[in-house]
Formats: sequence, C-alpha cells, structure tokens
Amino acid sequence: QHSLAGADQALADGVLARQRRALAKAITLIESSRADHQVRAQQVLASLLPHTGKAIRIGISGVPGAGKSTFIEALGIHLIERGHRLAVLAVDPSSSVSGGSILGDKTRMETLCQREEAFIRPSPSAGSLGGVAEKTREAMLLCEAAGFDVIIVETVGVGQSETTVAGMVDMFCLLQLPNAGDDLQAIKKGIVEIADMVVINKADIDPRAAQVVRAQWNNALHMLRHASPNWAPPVITLSALHKEGIGDFWAKVEKYRQALTPTGEFEARRQRQSIDWMWSLIDSGLRQYFRNHPAVRRDLPGLTQAVTQGRTTPAAAAYKLLGDLRTDSPSE
Ligand code: GDP
Repeated sequence: QHSLAGADQALADGVLARQRRALAKAITLIESSRADHQVRAQQVLASLLPHTGKAIRIGISGVPGAGKSTFIEALGIHLIERGHRLAVLAVDPSSSVSGGSILGDKTRMETLCQREEAFIRPSPSAGSLGGVAEKTREAMLLCEAAGFDVIIVETVGVGQSETTVAGMVDMFCLLQLPNAGDDLQAIKKGIVEIADMVVINKADIDPRAAQVVRAQWNNALHMLRHASPNWAPPVITLSALHKEGIGDFWAKVEKYRQALTPTGEFEARRQRQSIDWMWSLIDSGLRQYFRNHPAVRRDLPGLTQAVTQGRTTPAAAAYKLLGDLRTDSPSE
C-alpha cells in the first residue's frame, strides 16, 4: 500500500470523488518538470492505479481543418446523452517545433466544455514528442480514475505524433477529408497500417465524392493486413457539422471492442503498450544518465568536434563515450 502525504492524499481522494479541480491539479502536477513534483505525481499515480484501465481509449488524428474538434464535440454530446463521461486529451508536439500550437490556440469545443460530463485538456507543452506523450499517458490514467469511461486522444497528422498516439490507445481512427488522392499520402507515410478505422468527414459537401474516397480507402486497406486477424478496419463517411453518422461511428467502436476482447487481443495490446512505455522511459533515463555522467561531460565536447572535423569516426567516438560509463565512477 502507498501512503501519501496529506495534501497528495486529498488530491488523490478528490480525483476518485470525480472533482474536476482535483483532476486538473493532479494533471498539472504530472506536467510539472520540477523533480519534487515528479516524485509526488508518481506517488499519486501509483495510489490511483487500481482505479484505472476501465475506459475505452480512442485516438483521433487528422490534418488541421479535417474537423477534429467539430467531430469530437458532436461525438461527446452523443455519448453524454447515452450516459457516458468523456475526457478529451491532446498530443501536440508542434509547440516545441514551431513555437505555436496547431491544436490549441482557437477556442474549441465550446458546447462540450460546458458539460459536467466532459473534461477537456489541451496538450502538455513539455517539448519533445516523447515528453508530451508521457504526460498524456499519465493524464489518461488520472481521467480514468476520475470515472471518465471514454478517453479521446486527439492529434494532428504530422510526423511521428500519429504513431505515438496509436501506441497509447485501444483504437486509432483517422479523420480524413473527402479529397481523392489523400489516401496515397497516408500510405506513403505508413499510417494506414496503424488505422483501426477510417472516417471520411464533411460528406455533406459532396456525398458522391465522399463515396469515391471511401472506395479508395477500402482498396488501400484491403492491400494491407491489419494487426488483428479478427478486425478489418471499416471506412465510414459522416458529417460532423450536421451530426450525421456519429451513431454509426460509435457502433463501430463497440463492435471493435466486442470483437477483440474475447480473443484477448484488446488486453494484449494494452500490455504491449505498457512494456513499450516502460522501455521508452528506460531509454530516456539512460540517455539522461549518460549526458550527466562526469566522464562523458568531460569527453563529449572534444569528441563532438573530432567527429565534426572528420578526425574520428562516429563509431569510435560513440564507443569511447560508452566506455566512459564503465571506467569512471559517477561520483568522481
Ligand atoms: P480541426 O482543425 O480538425 O479541429 O477542424 P475543425 O473542427 O475546427 O473544423 C474546420 C472547419 O471545417 C470548421 O469551419 C468546421 O465548421 C468545418 N467542418 C467540420 N466538420 C464539417 C462537416 O462535417 N461538414 C462541413 N461542411 N464542414 C465541417
């Protein structure tokens, strides 16, 4: 059993009691880069862990303008009307690259924001994608402890963020515009392989074009084998703006869970994700340990210069630096 300090116990209790303020505070604690906050955050998380895991975790990705916030808002209201509680989290690594946020700037999901049954949290701005993803995974667990039974993780179709989000959710959905040709882009990027469902939004604009794109997607998906032999990723069309097709989307989500739970695949995916998460933390921890090691700090600048100037091979420099870890004691 974990015993928490008074304030942290109150925080954990508040999360379990479904107090939004406590949940927001706990997420802020997790997102803090202060070492003492991180220790406390891990303790709070550990104490809440038995209360996590009961939600369905859905990833939603699409380019800016695809209609993500319109869709999530429509889906959210649909789910709330059916007794669900949903949390919406975002993974937006762009702030560290461009200095601006792709997802977060405008006022989004205004109706959903006002609902007690919904919790919306913008992306942490922790810098690297790995850092953002780590915080989002932990925030997801906190939301589950606070009784949210549907977790949406939203991201943009940029770089690695889609793969990262697919690695933390049960079901990964691509939100597409009804433009012919976009599917080839996705194939090139290797995104099709990780899609568990493809959603063609804005079908109201040109229903026929939407059907053409849908057929293209079906073809593209037929050429690939999904990770599960028990699931063929469906392609659906909908209109987030007119709230058409939202029920169909949710029916597919439930069908997915029903198909993969009895086979053990649903749970196996989460287990794999937990192990991957552990290893990515080990990798980043080792990297930090390496960079902070006194002998490495001593040799790194000179070897970096030597490699830059072609006086040393990258391999020789790397082996020398890795050797530093063994020869000198860190307390030196
Ligand atoms: P995001 O950047 O992916 O979050 O996209 P938004 O949800 O902000 O939507 C971008 C624009 O597309 C907005 O002007 C929406 O009103 C519009 N939009 C979203 N969904 C639909 C739809 O189903 N049909 C139509 N016609 N417009 C839509």
